[in-house]
Amino acid sequence: MDLTIYNSLTREKQRFEPIDESNVRLYVCGPTVYDLAHIGNARPVVVFDVLFRVLRDLYGADAVTYVRNITDVDDKINARATESGEDIRTITERTVAAYHEDMDALGALRPTVEPRATEHIAPMIAMTQTLIERGHAYEAEGHVLFSVSSDPSYGQLSGRSMDEMIAGARIEVAPYKKDPADFVLWKPSTPDLPGWDSPWGRGRPGWHLECSAMSEVHLGEVFDIHGGGIDLIFPHHENEVAQSACAHAGEPHARYWMHNGFLMVEGEKMSKSLGNFFTVRDLLADWPGEVLRYTMLATHYRQPIDWTRAGMQQARESLDRLYRTLKAFEDIETDEADIPESVLAPLLDDLNTPLALAALHELATKANKAKNDPTRGKYKALLLAGGQALGLFGSDPDDWLKRRDGNADGQTEAEIEQLIADRIAARHNKDFGEADRIRGTLAAQGIILEDGPQGTTWRRG
Ligand code: AMP
Ligand code: ZN
Repeated sequence: MDLTIYNSLTREKQRFEPIDESNVRLYVCGPTVYDLAHIGNARPVVVFDVLFRVLRDLYGADAVTYVRNITDVDDKINARATESGEDIRTITERTVAAYHEDMDALGALRPTVEPRATEHIAPMIAMTQTLIERGHAYEAEGHVLFSVSSDPSYGQLSGRSMDEMIAGARIEVAPYKKDPADFVLWKPSTPDLPGWDSPWGRGRPGWHLECSAMSEVHLGEVFDIHGGGIDLIFPHHENEVAQSACAHAGEPHARYWMHNGFLMVEGEKMSKSLGNFFTVRDLLADWPGEVLRYTMLATHYRQPIDWTRAGMQQARESLDRLYRTLKAFEDIETDEADIPESVLAPLLDDLNTPLALAALHELATKANKAKNDPTRGKYKALLLAGGQALGLFGSDPDDWLKRRDGNADGQTEAEIEQLIADRIAARHNKDFGEADRIRGTLAAQGIILEDGPQGTTWRRG
């Protein structure tokens, strides 16, 4: 089966053909590390994690190189350091550690390489020099600017005319620019700002240049897929293409460009002033990471997501159902299965995760119906393989069904265990009325008790 993806560059769905099947190369723009990731920042991480998993399944786990950078030189970081009085490195190190924790909680595999901009200054300077030598960039007042008019292909990715680009990007008009659309490759740093020696004096790179240089170092001049959020198409990705293609004598940079849609909250743009701004960390305090992941995958990656509490609730109920099915099969030993075709086929069709999730539920239905079938183990294996392809089923079914989320009403786990102990004591004392009362109290909270030979177990119904 072939993978088909929507290529933002050609604006159509295309069959994916890697340059080298033994080394499939993917680059995704990572975070600028000055603050905790918000739930919108998590969208590309989850989306491209699914792509990474699909590519690993198709080409082999060792045949895929996934690079996701860390932008640790940026004016937003400098501004945060000035505001807080903290050292830049303290801010970036803390933010990277938090980012790892949060993205791990969402079940995202770590990328193969996570390059940091501060560790790639030399290749950034080299690329800038090449662009100057080839007539695509010029120095002016300590800045080096990319000359947009030197690149006839400029605007191809975003499909915008020069006038639209200038109007849309609120391009900074500066006296040293030959053309207002020209953008910064290198800019001077004052002594209080991070800076590196360069042929143009002490300075620092522009954001777009960082990704061109890091992708070149880790993936080569031309690679397979470049991803990021749709907001990055212009100017970030347009400028990346211009820099890389011009530095590499017209070679195309990435062959396929993929962009995830935007995330809105309860129908509005997420913003601190509207009070609907959620960090991944805020949400993880109340919801398991897998619920956030499922909520994300329930919408196709190119559609906008409206992130709602109701959506998370629904995702949790869907996961509860899948975990209940797995729990019913817990005593059955199974071999590992391949990803079932009903799950894989939609994933290969431009990562249709909502359809893949629906297929998982169909498998669960079949599994539940096959309770007395002697070959029922195969359903468990298929369900597990399908869920894992989507990065789900990271929990033990028992733990999942018992956990009490911070936002749920009802008893804590310790309170439930205490009530069960009280009920056992009541039964021991032949106080069956009290035992039944306790069972009723728990049932009213959706806690189901199951008395078996090994004692009493419980789950949330
Ligand atoms: P940043 O740290 O702002 O450079 O963003 C990191 C990644 O998150 C980029 O790929 C952005 O496109 C993506 N992103 C930021 N905000 C949103 C949002 N609200 N919805 C979807 N993706 C987003
Ligand atoms: Zn980038």
